[in-house]
Amino acid sequence: MYSALTTAEQAARSLDRETWTPSEVPRPVASPARLAIDLDRVSKRFESDGSTAVAGISLAIPARSTCLVEGPSGSGKTTLLALMGCMLRPSAGRIRIDGTEVTRLPEDHLAALRRGRVGFVFQSHHLIRGATAVDNVEVPAIPCPGIDGRLRDRSMALLARFGLADRAHTRVERLSGGEQQRVAIARALVNRPSIVLADEPTAHLDADTAETFLALVNELRAGGATVVVASHDPVVCGAGLFAQVVRLRGGRQV
Ligand code: ADP
Ligand code: MG
Repeated sequence: MYSALTTAEQAARSLDRETWTPSEVPRPVASPARLAIDLDRVSKRFESDGSTAVAGISLAIPARSTCLVEGPSGSGKTTLLALMGCMLRPSAGRIRIDGTEVTRLPEDHLAALRRGRVGFVFQSHHLIRGATAVDNVEVPAIPCPGIDGRLRDRSMALLARFGLADRAHTRVERLSGGEQQRVAIARALVNRPSIVLADEPTAHLDADTAETFLALVNELRAGGATVVVASHDPVVCGAGLFAQVVRLRGGRQV
């Protein structure tokens, strides 16, 4: 019966089935040999000013693998991660996420894919002011079906993991930059995504907390997630932790 469905419909159905699973670690993806992220000559040109932020990037990231996107400010790291996270559509080229071609998927299917599979740590946090740390962590889970009493436990456990147990009920604007960044990391993990995209996740962290983040990358990968980190932090770039390193200059791979 499934043969009558489009790939997008199949992806949406499998997301519905997989959105909530009981374990604390990210759900494993099907096969280690499968590609989690597959970019084929992907470019992004911003129509507003005609600038090309990403030019002709081809990249294959296997499931359960790690990738570092390295490059100076303005080299296209954030744009590349936003493309991988289906938050931007490419101007040219093709993107597959977990084997599904997403380049021309309708917006509601992209939203389901993002919500079900992708955890994104934004460079500038994008936390909701006026809401507490734990409420912010729970935001990505709110539109998902099957919310249950475990959500609060999981959110608190994630905050505790980042040393924020006693700050959980503090409004985020009263937290330091580093604390806000840790809330943003916890929020990215709350739906147990199979793909974690982290944009300069250590920019506001001290060296010790940055080390905690690097340990987390290892743990996520061991739990079955694919992790992509964009950074120019020497602590991250010098860690020798990543299976693959993509170096960007002026939007091109060097
Ligand atoms: P990085 O994260 O490495 O600092 P970005 O991906 O943020 O790089 O930016 C790459 C280039 O694309 C920069 O020249 C930037 O000005 C440009 N750019 C990024 N976002 C936009 C946008 N929304 N509109 C126009 N230009 C953009
Ligand atoms: Mg950036």
